[in-house]
Amino acid sequence: MIQTKGYAAQDATTPLGPFNFERREVGEHDVQIEVLFCGVCHSDLHQVRNEWGGAIYPMVPGHEIVGRITKVGSEVKKFKEGDLAGVGCFVDSCRHCQSCNEGLEQYCENHLVMTYSGVEKDGKTVTQGGYSDQIIVDEKYTLKVPENLDLARVAPLLCAGITTYSPMKEWGIGEGHRVGVVGLGGLGHMAVKLAVSMGADVTVLSTSPEKEKDARELGAHNFKNTKDDEMMKEMADSFDFIIDTVSAPHNYNNYLTLLKRDGTMILLGAPPAPAEVIAANLLFKRRRLVGSLIGGIAETQEMLDYCGENNIMSDVEVIPIDYINEAYERMLKGDVKYRFVIDMASLK
Ligand code: NAP
Ligand code: ZN
Ligand code: ZN
Repeated sequence: MIQTKGYAAQDATTPLGPFNFERREVGEHDVQIEVLFCGVCHSDLHQVRNEWGGAIYPMVPGHEIVGRITKVGSEVKKFKEGDLAGVGCFVDSCRHCQSCNEGLEQYCENHLVMTYSGVEKDGKTVTQGGYSDQIIVDEKYTLKVPENLDLARVAPLLCAGITTYSPMKEWGIGEGHRVGVVGLGGLGHMAVKLAVSMGADVTVLSTSPEKEKDARELGAHNFKNTKDDEMMKEMADSFDFIIDTVSAPHNYNNYLTLLKRDGTMILLGAPPAPAEVIAANLLFKRRRLVGSLIGGIAETQEMLDYCGENNIMSDVEVIPIDYINEAYERMLKGDVKYRFVIDMASLK
């Protein structure tokens, strides 16, 4: 077994702290990655505090991982020692269901192995994530990282990037579309950058008026304060797409009514409590309310290559690992510009 250092939550209420654990030996198809940077997703916070249920402790969070390969298994084809590599939200899947066969592993119908707080296909080994000095992953579930980008700023692409990119591709978002992005956080700021790069007209719909300047610097064409009722009325029936990245419970109806006829609201945020939807807000204008979960391996690679070609990266605040508990508190207050990323050198 491989001795590994990390930071873990021991239960839903105590702060994260140092934690030593073991990872499996490098198998034939595995790569061993020295973790250089790991992004801090709001999902980490939901999971650490067991807000969705099903949390497994001790939990080493982290699914926005970039690092360098230190060892490859005998059958590995895609990577060699010294290559850069990325790992996102899952590290394995059943590999034979329809979704897996279509490259939509995130919707695996049998067993999606999440990067942490998950169980491997052996039915017993608990997975541990990227707030650690190394990780061992099957090469099939490992991504190639463009050499030309700043690695700390690439890490958030592994979740925030692909989660916003995938529905844009699925729904054909681009030129001629008016797109609203609800919530300017980790996912939201990537949604702005990507939608702008695809030619859409982008409006940030935010509860934080002080983020307007940043929103425009990120490329947004418009910024609207969603706490302003008059402004919300003026925007009725005006968007083709609304991308909702909000982490806390909020009223979907206020945003559904901003869609044009046949407009689509895409839920990406995963608040821990259910929400009420007024049927009439969907019926009368044949509006759609849909969801989307991260993205498959092939599409994640496509997104990384696209970001490499278009020089798209996250705006980050790099932190040492021992700042993580404070970072969570700041994230809860919306005080992040716009993703915390842990410099894993601070763990040593
Ligand atoms: P984040 O950085 O904390 O951003 C969330 C943003 O939502 C905040 O910056 C804030 O933006 C807005 N917000 C927060 N509380 C709000 C409230 N009470 N009412 C209205 N707006 C509020 O979080 P993140 O990392 O982007 O993640 C966002 C959500 O997506 C989380 O629930 C996460 O679990 C989920 N997620 C889903 C997927 C998926 O596959 N679908 C993948 C990753 C993450 P403003 O200040 O601009 O209002
Ligand atoms: Zn995430
Ligand atoms: Zn499957």
